[in-house]
Amino acid sequence: MSFILYQNQLLPREKGKVDMEDRGYQFGDGIYEAIRVYSGQMFLLEGHMKRLVRSARELRIKLPCSIENLTDNLKQLIKRNAIGDGMVYFQITRGAAPRKHYFPDGVSPVLTGSATLFPRDKHREEGIKVVLAEDIRWLRCDIKTLNLLGNVLAKQKAHENGAEEAIQHRGDIVTEGASSNVFIVRGGKLITHPADHYILNGITRLFVLDLASKLNIPVVERTFTLEELFAADEAFITSTGNEVKPVTQIDDHPVSDGKAGEITLKLAEAFDRAVNRVKRATLS
Ligand code: PMP
Repeated sequence: MSFILYQNQLLPREKGKVDMEDRGYQFGDGIYEAIRVYSGQMFLLEGHMKRLVRSARELRIKLPCSIENLTDNLKQLIKRNAIGDGMVYFQITRGAAPRKHYFPDGVSPVLTGSATLFPRDKHREEGIKVVLAEDIRWLRCDIKTLNLLGNVLAKQKAHENGAEEAIQHRGDIVTEGASSNVFIVRGGKLITHPADHYILNGITRLFVLDLASKLNIPVVERTFTLEELFAADEAFITSTGNEVKPVTQIDDHPVSDGKAGEITLKLAEAFDRAVNRVKRATLS
C-alpha cells in the first residue's frame, strides 16, 4: 500500500481527495518542490526548502507548518513507502474557497505530498536529443508554481518529436529546458543563463555551479543565443531528475561530434561522487 502526505498526516493513497474549489486545481495557485532521494536520504534538502520559502513569500502563500515539521513528515513518508532511490514531490496550494480570483479571506493552505521510486539513469552518458521551443511562459519563471502550461506544451513538443527535453528560447535567447536548466561549454568555459525571472534557479544548477568552481572550471552566468547553442563544444541539462545529462542532438543537428563532452562528463562524475558519498554515509 502506498502512502501520501496530506497536511500533517500520512494517509493511504486512495484516501487523498482534492476539494474541487481548491485554488491549486482552479488557478494553479500553489507552489511545489521535487526532491531527489538517494538510499532513503533527501538530497540537497536545504536548497529545496529555501526555494520553497522564497516561492511562498513571492506568492504570499502561508506555509501550513514549519520547515522542520515538513521535513520530518517527508522523512516519514519516504520510510513508510520504503523508498531507496526515489523522488519526493509535495505542493502547497493557497487553499480551498469559493472561486474568485483575488485571495479569499481566511483561506488555509493545503499541503499534499508523495514519495515514489525513481531509479538513477544508467544510460546517462549516451546523451539525449532535445528540440527547441519558443518560451511562451509568464515573466516570473523564478517562482516554482503549479502553473506549468508553457512547460507542458514544450515537453509535449519534445515527446512528439522523439526527444527527451525541449530547450526554450525567447526570440534568440536560450532560457531553460521545459523542466531543466541548460548549460553550454565554449572554449573550456561553462555558460548558463543568469538566475533572474526568466528561469527557475535549479537546485541542481546551483550544485553544478559549485562543483564547477571546485573543479576549477570557469563559469559565466550570462545569456547566450541559439547561434551559440548550435556552435557549442558541449551542452547539457541539469535537474533533480536528470542530474547532469549531456545533450548530444538539437532538433536534427548533433552537438559538436554528437557525443557527450569532456567537461560535461567531468561534472557528471563529480555529481556521482557526491551521490555515492550520501549512499555510503547511509550504509555506515
Ligand atoms: N527549470 C524548470 C522549469 C524546472 O521545472 C526544473 C525542475 N524542477 C528545473 C529548471 C531544474 O530545477 P532543479 O534542479 O531544482 O530540479
